[in-house]
Amino acid sequence: MKKLVLATGNLGKVRELNAMLKSVYEVISQKELGVNEVPETGLSFVENALIKARNASKQTGLPALADDSGLAVDALNGAPGIYSARYAGEHASDEENLQKLLSDLKRQDDNNRRACFWCALAFVKHADDPTPLIIQKSWEGEIINKAKGLGGFGYDPIFYLSSHGRTSAELSPEEKNKISHRGQALQAFLKQLKD
Ligand code: IMP
Repeated sequence: MKKLVLATGNLGKVRELNAMLKSVYEVISQKELGVNEVPETGLSFVENALIKARNASKQTGLPALADDSGLAVDALNGAPGIYSARYAGEHASDEENLQKLLSDLKRQDDNNRRACFWCALAFVKHADDPTPLIIQKSWEGEIINKAKGLGGFGYDPIFYLSSHGRTSAELSPEEKNKISHRGQALQAFLKQLKD
């Protein structure tokens, strides 16, 4: 089976991506291979995904897949966006980021609760690959005031899906992978690989 390095240190992402990729690739996280993380200096999910994929491939000599993702909240003009992982500070926990989001929303007059998760996937066959595979998908929901559910990671406990009457933290891993931004992006990635 072909090897693929996952260019992320985020355990939640590794879990979800590995579950969907393991029948096609031997997936190794960049942490296992001692890859040094690279600063995410891009202004978009796509740019950051590509920076991370090239970095992991350069340091390991393996094909690499990177996910850059985040939550864009309408009433906060798209924040936290590409800063989702560090919204409450450079080394903030998921809980601290989530609480900052709720308190920022509380201060808004805007009652619009619409939000979107975005996921950009970048796949490179080698570090200088001139034709990287790029996919971007979104997932729409609304932000609720109180965290609910124990599954997933990050902002999942406050991301409510009216179609399911639950937050994404209340979905099973299989349910979430079928419909989430990351799940959709990965399904498109696997389809393009096949084609
Ligand atoms: P990145 O590692 O710079 O791409 O940051 C991703 C951040 O976006 C995570 O740390 C979470 O805060 C948030 N995020 C991305 N995908 C999800 C998801 O599926 N559920 C909840 N939060 C997510």
